[in-house]
Amino acid sequence: MPFSPSNIPHRKQLLARTVRWLGKPAEGMPEPERRRNHVLAWMQITLILLIGLALVLNLLFINGNTPRDRLYNFLMAGLLVGLLAAFGLNRRGRYRASSYMTVFLAFLGPWSSLLGDSTVLQGDFVPLTYLVLPVILASILLSVGVTIILAGLQFGLLIFLPYFIPAIASINWVSFMIFIFFVSILGAVSNFIHRQDLQQIDEATGLLQESEAQLRELSVRDALTGLFNRRYLEETLEREIHRVERKGLSLGIIMLDLDHFKRINDTYGHPAGDVALQALGSLLKANIRVSDIACRYGGEEFVLILPEASLEVTRQRAERLCLNVKKLNVSYNELLLEPITLSLGVAAFPEHGSTYMSLLSAVDAAMYHAKNEGRDRVVVARDEKQRND
Ligand code: GH3
Ligand code: MG
Ligand code: MG
Repeated sequence: MPFSPSNIPHRKQLLARTVRWLGKPAEGMPEPERRRNHVLAWMQITLILLIGLALVLNLLFINGNTPRDRLYNFLMAGLLVGLLAAFGLNRRGRYRASSYMTVFLAFLGPWSSLLGDSTVLQGDFVPLTYLVLPVILASILLSVGVTIILAGLQFGLLIFLPYFIPAIASINWVSFMIFIFFVSILGAVSNFIHRQDLQQIDEATGLLQESEAQLRELSVRDALTGLFNRRYLEETLEREIHRVERKGLSLGIIMLDLDHFKRINDTYGHPAGDVALQALGSLLKANIRVSDIACRYGGEEFVLILPEASLEVTRQRAERLCLNVKKLNVSYNELLLEPITLSLGVAAFPEHGSTYMSLLSAVDAAMYHAKNEGRDRVVVARDEKQRND
């Protein structure tokens, strides 16, 4: 692609997208797993870049003809392939296998150089300083127990090393061991503390999410009936209208009001009225589909939203409710209350409006018609054109 200033945002986007893709964990992971997966991915990317760079520099600037150069080139290429495979495993969500493989490669690297590089035997112990790497990686990626076992294994091997490689005795072997010990222990301790902090944060975040969900649930529910409240209805109705509109479908809406409810309160008392409202709430819940939404609109008024239902289906549903409510036996203090009847208005999208306001006003008008025509009945809203005339 030729360079031009207009390419810069595109390139930046591409870079940002690539960086995101590289560190992106497998889909649908819970937060703690997602984070450790992400950390591992970035450790692997860093190691791959560092080893890749070292390999390129080695190939470009160091005359790679000596057996030692060839050994390191071969070793680095092997580590790169191994790390790429481990990276692939992590991308597929196999965190444990991938992290064990990464630590094993970090362990294999320095020990292979020890076994294969003759100069180590002659007193160049710099490659051995890399022995801290697997311990630090293990402390970040694996459990404390595995980190201790790995550190112990390395120390066990190091202690016996002077017996097999006498040249090692020529350096300050004890100081070298202490260096590795210090770095390993410090790395392990800091990562252990860090992990505990993260665990606490995860626990606190989990609790917060739980109470947030509970609060959200409370804020959209009516306390008496357990149905959704008016605020939720208004939010949802607008969204559902857009959704069915995009799909070219319809949406039904029923508004219902208890007839002469004041009389129930006056005759049996307010708590008995509450029981009647709860019984009606349960009846509504039992008479709708999972995708339908039942709300207490106010006092003794309720609204049902039936996404994807036609006007005719909605009307039939309202008729059935009108019949079923009369069979409802509500008793309070062992006293059977008089039968309940409902006045129901029915409207639908797109016949009676395309906004939630127009649909609510159409269904409200229909419900009041039902009241005025004598109650205990269903009235379908007049269509838009008729109402405008
Ligand atoms: P209509 O057939 O015309 O609808 O008559 P109505 O008596 O049902 O209507 P009105 O609006 O006159 O009275 C509604 C009553 O509903 C008055 C109010 O006290 C009662 N109400 C509203 N909310 C509650 C509630 O949460 N619990 C109880 N028990 N009563 C309630
Ligand atoms: Mg009423
Ligand atoms: Mg009312």
